[in-house]
Amino acid sequence: MQAEIRGAVQGVGFRPFVYQLAHQLGLAGWVENTSFGVRLEVEGDAAAVAAFLRQMEDTPPPNASVVSVAVRDVAGLADGAFVIRQSASQGARVAQILPDLATCPDCLRELFDPQDRRYLYPFINCTHCGPRFSIVEDVPYDRARTSMRHFPMCPACRAEYEDPLNRRFHAEPNACPVCGPHIALWDADGKELARREQALLAAAQAIRDGKIVATKGIGGFHLMVDARSEQAVRQLRTRKRRPEKPFAVMFPALADVERECAVSPEARMLLLSPASPIVLLRRRLGSVASAVAPGNPWLGAMLPYAPLHHLLMRELCFPIVATSGNLSDEPICTDETEALSRLAGIADVFLVHNRPIIRPIDDSVARIVCGRDQVLRRARGYAPAPILMKDLTAGILALGGHMKTTVAVTLEDAVLLSQHLGDLETMPARLAHDRAVDDMLKLRGLAPRMVVRDLHPDYATSRMATDMKLPVIGVQHHLAHVAACMAEHGIAPPVLGVAWDGTGYGTDGTIWGGEFLLVTEGGWCRVAHLRPFRLPGGEIAAREPRRAAIGLLYEAFGADAFTLDLPPVAALAPAERDVMRTALAHAVNAPLTSSMGRLFDGFAALCGLRQIASYEGQAAAEFEWASADVVPARPYNFSLVTSTAVDAPWIIDWKPALDTLLSDKAAGVSVGAISAAFHAGLAKVLADVARQVGTPRVILTGGCFQNMRLSEEAVTALRNAGHEPVWHRRVPPNDGAIALGQAVWAAWSEKERAT
Ligand code: ZN
Ligand code: ZN
Ligand code: FE
Repeated sequence: MQAEIRGAVQGVGFRPFVYQLAHQLGLAGWVENTSFGVRLEVEGDAAAVAAFLRQMEDTPPPNASVVSVAVRDVAGLADGAFVIRQSASQGARVAQILPDLATCPDCLRELFDPQDRRYLYPFINCTHCGPRFSIVEDVPYDRARTSMRHFPMCPACRAEYEDPLNRRFHAEPNACPVCGPHIALWDADGKELARREQALLAAAQAIRDGKIVATKGIGGFHLMVDARSEQAVRQLRTRKRRPEKPFAVMFPALADVERECAVSPEARMLLLSPASPIVLLRRRLGSVASAVAPGNPWLGAMLPYAPLHHLLMRELCFPIVATSGNLSDEPICTDETEALSRLAGIADVFLVHNRPIIRPIDDSVARIVCGRDQVLRRARGYAPAPILMKDLTAGILALGGHMKTTVAVTLEDAVLLSQHLGDLETMPARLAHDRAVDDMLKLRGLAPRMVVRDLHPDYATSRMATDMKLPVIGVQHHLAHVAACMAEHGIAPPVLGVAWDGTGYGTDGTIWGGEFLLVTEGGWCRVAHLRPFRLPGGEIAAREPRRAAIGLLYEAFGADAFTLDLPPVAALAPAERDVMRTALAHAVNAPLTSSMGRLFDGFAALCGLRQIASYEGQAAAEFEWASADVVPARPYNFSLVTSTAVDAPWIIDWKPALDTLLSDKAAGVSVGAISAAFHAGLAKVLADVARQVGTPRVILTGGCFQNMRLSEEAVTALRNAGHEPVWHRRVPPNDGAIALGQAVWAAWSEKERAT
């Protein structure tokens, strides 16, 4: 009997597992890696063959997952033995490439065992852990097609690698101090200061001394400083030109995280998982400097996930900032010589190694929402695991949006979604996006036949789509958000999609962002949206919450808005005030928007929280944080009004809420109480719309649902109203999911047209 096994079955010890199973059951045959997964043949007693198949599916190795097993009978050709064959490389190249996996407990034990030959060796790994996606050059996955091909194995490593009963059997990155990669410490000019263990000790000392150390890790460089030192952290902020956006912190061990933050059992699982993401946790008072995440009740915490991190943290015994090695808005740096120039003036010393990183992969970010894990940035440890789906059409390439981009391509039974690539504000970021597209297609041997883009005419991805000289289709931004959530949960229409975010180009040419989209068997329509208002200055408003506030006031009170004694008005210089008044009066450079993100910004600015933001979503986030631990007295009133517009029968009017905000402010109500009432009001009106539309399933998607309070209150309100709320888990609610949504919507529409 022959079987073809698809799924995550390469690089996880699947073949040795099969080998041992066949030996135990006395079966003859062979197993090999192929371009789609694993193929095997077993011959012997029928009961033993049945037991073999059952155990293979029921108890695969820890990081393996079997998606399908296709069995066919063949004439028994195998003789007495069971063998592991060399990789075959023909056929479609759709074998799943594993994500990079955090160091496993067995390897960790050896790392700190003085008797072990890999004692303190920073590149220890086995079939259950170590780099994967970050070192793969081609498929099928074996050493000759990874960046470990530069390191021929010594006899001891080779013996492990070839022994089917060894836990390093075909561990492709297998290495030891004799034959494998090594670390070194460089100064800012690339001069070697120390090697091997001395390099590690000197790097640790530099961190102790308050210096900034650029450390080459799994998917790129980190910038590291002592997280306890206000001065060191501030210095990093100045040099990296990142004034306030929170930094992630790496802690020596779980107990250290638990001392600093509240860690639920679910969050603990996430911290200790093989993906080892940055986990957002509620902060308690602790040792971490306030400059790490100013004014933020949440802290992004992670544990060491590479052997090098374990060594460093064991030496330091205190938390360090570990933020991606780049200048703000640029892609993460992966190569040591490139790091010297790109991180010049930022890092004091460079802790480097000579194992090449094939593609940049940032740390992932995740958290627990309503008791379940949710990815906010999907990169190391998660990508490139495919999103499995039924009945797709292959060959559709989706280029994503503009911020937090990813790219996606369809197969017949899955969507391949790239790792987080970042915002496309800079040229280096756009080039990295181009490379990621090429990489994804080349690695799987795919040639796209259609490109999907956002409707926004000015996005870099829109131009890229045109340049590809293939048929191009556009998918509306918020529809893509909704489709992505449907795709990851395998949900069929009808659904009501609540897509709330900052900016998305609407089908009517205005800026959408507070949308309710009804998706049915035959298509979709916009059933409700936030009452539109104008954004003086257009795109600048995303960085200047005061502009959203002025837009709201102008819509509500006309030109009188500029006479009100309120923080956003006071924050304008007389000249700015004149420009804005003219822009709004003539509706020039003041586009209409129904954006929920901008409504948050505007309310935050009206509360006096922030008039100008230093990063995307800052004011809205601060508005949420203000409400931490506050129980709302009475939800603000967002009234649902029926509209004469054909496309959207209901409008959510924020004017009553604005009126209450202004009187609350005048009465001295705290920002926290205002924020809590605002969130409660939105959750209520969301459930009101769901009731009007009547669809049982309601999807919560878009960047606004990164807001924990909003997410949890919306889920509760929907459940109380008898609906089934659905939210993102494996792909982010933010624009990181746009490419997935674009790809599946294009595939579904194609099917629709064909039938
Ligand atoms: Zn291991
Ligand atoms: Zn070796
Ligand atoms: Fe969006």
